[in-house]
Amino acid sequence: MRTAAIIGGGWAGFAAALTLARSGWSVVLHEAGREPGGRARGMELALPDGTGHRVDNGQHILIGAYTSSLELMRSVGVDPEQALLRKPLTLRYADGSGLGFPDWPAPLDALAGIACARGWSAGQRLALLTRAARWRFAGFECEESTTVAQLCNGLPQRLLDEFIDPLCISALNTPMQEASASVFLRVLRDALFSGRGGSHFLVPRSDLGTLFPIPAARWLAQHGQRVQLGSRVIEIIPQGEQWALATAAGHAPEQFDAVLLACPAPEAARLALSAAGHASLPAREGIAFERWAAKAQALEHRPIATVYAWARQGEHPARLALPWLALRNTQQAPAQFVFDHGQLGGPPGLMAFVISHSQADKTPLQAQVLAQAEQQLGLKLTALRSVIDKRATFACTPALSRPAPELGHGLWACGDYVQGPYPATIEGAVRSGIQTAQALCLPQ
Ligand SMILES: Cc1cc2nc3c(=O)[nH]c(=O)nc-3n(C[C@H](O)[C@H](O)[C@H](O)COP(=O)(O)OP(=O)(O)OC[C@H]3O[C@@H](n4cnc5c(N)ncnc54)[C@H](O)[C@@H]3O)c2cc1C
Repeated sequence: MRTAAIIGGGWAGFAAALTLARSGWSVVLHEAGREPGGRARGMELALPDGTGHRVDNGQHILIGAYTSSLELMRSVGVDPEQALLRKPLTLRYADGSGLGFPDWPAPLDALAGIACARGWSAGQRLALLTRAARWRFAGFECEESTTVAQLCNGLPQRLLDEFIDPLCISALNTPMQEASASVFLRVLRDALFSGRGGSHFLVPRSDLGTLFPIPAARWLAQHGQRVQLGSRVIEIIPQGEQWALATAAGHAPEQFDAVLLACPAPEAARLALSAAGHASLPAREGIAFERWAAKAQALEHRPIATVYAWARQGEHPARLALPWLALRNTQQAPAQFVFDHGQLGGPPGLMAFVISHSQADKTPLQAQVLAQAEQQLGLKLTALRSVIDKRATFACTPALSRPAPELGHGLWACGDYVQGPYPATIEGAVRSGIQTAQALCLPQ
């Protein structure tokens, strides 16, 4: 039986572990944290009444076109239709303006949604429909060097502010002036043309850990595979054709046929470099590892913040008009979306504000979000906890050169940043995990 060590228990690492285990490999997955799931995991939140409630380390949203993630959830016994609230694409503001697709087959849903958008003039709606038709005619492709702002040049400012920018920032976590137009178009194409429900928004009803990483860890354990939580790998050591690991917890030495780096890019680069200088590695492969690490280290990252807050309207817990609303955002009013967890299986009054590409520190950010909510939603809020992940995603810029999945000598990589069609998303991570594992299973 062939053996693999997987370093990192995010969605990519678990996707790879399941794929390898189902192909007859024996795997050991090392995850540095105590919770599986990496950037898409659950965490405990203390509520004002002293009870605890599980939320995400950062509010996430999936779309219907994320078929690999949904399939993988099903494969470990999770029903995505129960675990996620599914709604046709909705970008509505508190005043009711904005976009809401009907639940129709694609692309009729998009056509009807745009044609009936509230608050946009007939000219603005026509401009978007015409531009969308032009993108479709061009096969949703453009020059690799184009930014989303260049792609959308000439569209009315209101469409840029209320449709293009919110979509771009939530899908790519990169402002449209810097974001890759070809990746943006690919996400649009998959959402709008991958079949009925591809553009639906899917919002977790329970914390992200329970959606996949925890059931995946359970599945692996039930099938004789090993998941080591709280186990940081500090070095990977080539030993002839095989590999050994050094862990902070000092696990007994073991040899593997392959190692999969499923940790974030900077850590994967560090581990690759730790192996590159090893005496037993042929010099040619050491150089290939160094080149790979340089590419991984060159990626820039962008933050995402989530402010969890308790909202009242008078004496009662607040409830939004919809489970989530878009917010008008500026530098002083930084949140782009608010999610009402009372409508997502959580306690009434619990809100999550999302600040993609967030710039401010925690205290000023929290104050700005509370003021924004009072002004735009009429809500009185008490902040409960704010989480800023400074390296939430890589900056999805034009013509980005992303590291390849194979480093050589039985060393591989998977994760949202590895070469692939998508920006840094759960689906990008999952697809990368599956594809790297499948490549590993091919006769070498
Ligand atoms: C706040 C926030 C909001 C987001 N919103 C969305 C969204 O709405 N929709 C969406 O699709 N995506 C979203 N993303 C992006 C998505 O979460 C990531 O793209 C995805 O989770 C990346 O998965 P991964 O497995 O590639 O990496 P990670 O999740 O980073 O997993 C890597 C794992 O490796 C572990 N590790 C690191 N070093 C070591 C080591 N030396 N030894 C052992 N283990 C190690 C880490 O602890 C981690 O668990 C968001 C991300 C954040 C942070």
